[in-house]
Amino acid sequence: MADPTNALKVENVSHAYGANRVLDDISLTVAPGQVACLLGPSGGGKSTLLRLIAGLEIIQGGAVTIGGRTVADAGLGIHLAPEKRGLGLMFQDYALFPHLTILENIAFGISVSTPERMQWVNHAIERIGLADHARSYPHTLSGGQQQRAALLRALAPEPRVLLLDEPFSGLDATLRASVRERTLSLLKETGVTTLIVTHNPVEAMVVADHIQIMVEGKIVQDGTQEDIYYAPRNAFVASLFAPINRLRGVVKDGCVDSPIGCFRAPPPLADGMAA
Ligand code: ADP
Ligand code: MG
Repeated sequence: MADPTNALKVENVSHAYGANRVLDDISLTVAPGQVACLLGPSGGGKSTLLRLIAGLEIIQGGAVTIGGRTVADAGLGIHLAPEKRGLGLMFQDYALFPHLTILENIAFGISVSTPERMQWVNHAIERIGLADHARSYPHTLSGGQQQRAALLRALAPEPRVLLLDEPFSGLDATLRASVRERTLSLLKETGVTTLIVTHNPVEAMVVADHIQIMVEGKIVQDGTQEDIYYAPRNAFVASLFAPINRLRGVVKDGCVDSPIGCFRAPPPLADGMAA
């Protein structure tokens, strides 16, 4: 069951590396138990936003709230240490500890005083098909097996919110669909609030309850799969999910007058503008 207090809220976050402004007034919410996807082309600032939420970068503008608790606020000078935020984090390269076994990796964040979590770990290892590899070292496992181990390691301490950065892009195409399915069922079963970063539109469509599209440091659209697929806010968003044909025309009486007829022209398109 989703814990109703485990929402993730990002408010008006901006960030720059020196003179390079990479995030511009980003706001987004992931509801408790929801799986949301931050989708956008490479270099758009997605990983930077995850690192800010996790506390791996110091916040420069805006605030981050997890389960109603402010974990970072530039205005108030709040910057909680990453391990105090109640987050699970998985990077694209999994970052398993090479000198620890799979079981030791997964149990890394659990205190010995929580036997019920160790029980969860043993059960989860079994369920996810890693029982035969519990005492192996990461380099002896396939990419898909390492991904599962990294996912369990992130979930083991029962985080309020899980952050996954490109969790499937290290896998070859034949594995990707099954790993994705298995990951999603584990996320739904644990009910953890999850934000997944991806540059792959198909992935976002398949896994997310909610999608935020980010381009060059700005959220350009935020909605369900249906919203985004059937009512893309601009030509770029439309082009993410299907081949598109572009027609040009001029706005007249609230419509774009094109060679194949009139199309509704919502604001900010005004009469006389080219679209
Ligand atoms: P994405 O994850 O969407 O590909 P990133 O957040 O990794 O985007 O990068 C956004 C921009 O910030 C890029 O121009 C990248 O070169 C730059 N950038 C990312 N990390 C750093 C860093 N540690 N120092 C300087 N520039 C960085
Ligand atoms: Mg990235």
